[in-house]
Amino acid sequence: MFGFVCQNCGKGTKVGEPVHLFLLWNGETVEKLTGPYDGNGAVLDANKKTVAWKVGQGRVDALEASSYSQNGIAAFHINCYRGILPEYQSKRDPDQKS
Ligand SMILES: [Zn+2]
Repeated sequence: MFGFVCQNCGKGTKVGEPVHLFLLWNGETVEKLTGPYDGNGAVLDANKKTVAWKVGQGRVDALEASSYSQNGIAAFHINCYRGILPEYQSKRDPDQKS
């Protein structure tokens, strides 16, 4: 399991916390997931099942692994998000390591 550092408050996204996850490619949002954080880079649906990224997990993993900071997932707690689209990947939460 892992979490991201919220780009507003600087705290980690913990399992079950409502979040927005933006998948970035060259600084543009290509997909967004909203819901309780699942602990593995996505969110949960109403049945507590992980919601799959439509672009496919391989694409998400490749963007996350990219050394370019404008690729990957940008994360915010829902209550922290101020409506401005992010342009940079979130760091992984150092307090959550599997
Ligand atoms: Zn936050």
